[in-house]
Amino acid sequence: MKTLFKIIAGIIIFFLLTLITQVGGIIWLMCLPLFFYINSRYPTYKRWLKPAVFLIVYCFFTFVIIPPIAGIWGRKPLPFFGKDGLKPLNRMTCLLNRHYVRLELETLVLDATEKMRQKYPGSVVAYMDANHPFYNGYPLIPHISHSDGKKLDIAFFWKNAKDEPLHRKARTFIGYGGSENPNKGEYNTTKDCEAKGYWQYGLMNKIIPKANPKKVIFDLERNRDFMRILATHPRTGKILIEPHLEDRLGLRGYNKVRFHGCHAVRHDDHLHLQL
Ligand SMILES: [Zn+2]
Repeated sequence: MKTLFKIIAGIIIFFLLTLITQVGGIIWLMCLPLFFYINSRYPTYKRWLKPAVFLIVYCFFTFVIIPPIAGIWGRKPLPFFGKDGLKPLNRMTCLLNRHYVRLELETLVLDATEKMRQKYPGSVVAYMDANHPFYNGYPLIPHISHSDGKKLDIAFFWKNAKDEPLHRKARTFIGYGGSENPNKGEYNTTKDCEAKGYWQYGLMNKIIPKANPKKVIFDLERNRDFMRILATHPRTGKILIEPHLEDRLGLRGYNKVRFHGCHAVRHDDHLHLQL
């Protein structure tokens, strides 16, 4: 019975790691001989020694082995610590191997970051979920379309009540679920989609704890400029945001800015950029 329980737990761990990180399940399988060794040699310490060994091996693969191999699929990791103002909103994105993009997409976002920093020195562009390192067609759950290295979610620019820019900060710790709601008179897509039965559309906003919107304020000026830089960049294929922000930021007429449809989720907590 105990062995059966261990096998089922092992299968669940493998699938969860694979689902979230793509590579974690395989790395965990590779660690199994080490786990057996620890069980027999150091049974007293196995509870903390096995997770510690897994973390060390996982980090070694994440930072040393995987980046060069991802090059086979034309992908590279976005910077972990930051490069020229491009930084992860949350470094867990990198630790979970969710920060890989095609080289063209990296160039595009670095270009746009540079242009923002020329106008607003010190600005930080905070990226969110991108793609996994390997295979075209392997989705980055829950973003089904993030499967080819061509997609990147980017946090909006936010400021505090004193009108000072906030860096690497959004209304939630992962960026998702902290939306800038429609103002009075603006089109409410969420209401519309939910009325049509798309229950998932505003789900993230209901389940993730968020900062006070009066303390983390949507930075209209910077977001408008950044969106225009992206929307006019020759490498940009498409940008997805919520229609009320498209109106508020004066983006009607920019044909690369689109609405994603009710089958997706709200895009007023981040923008989606793709080649
Ligand atoms: Zn996206």
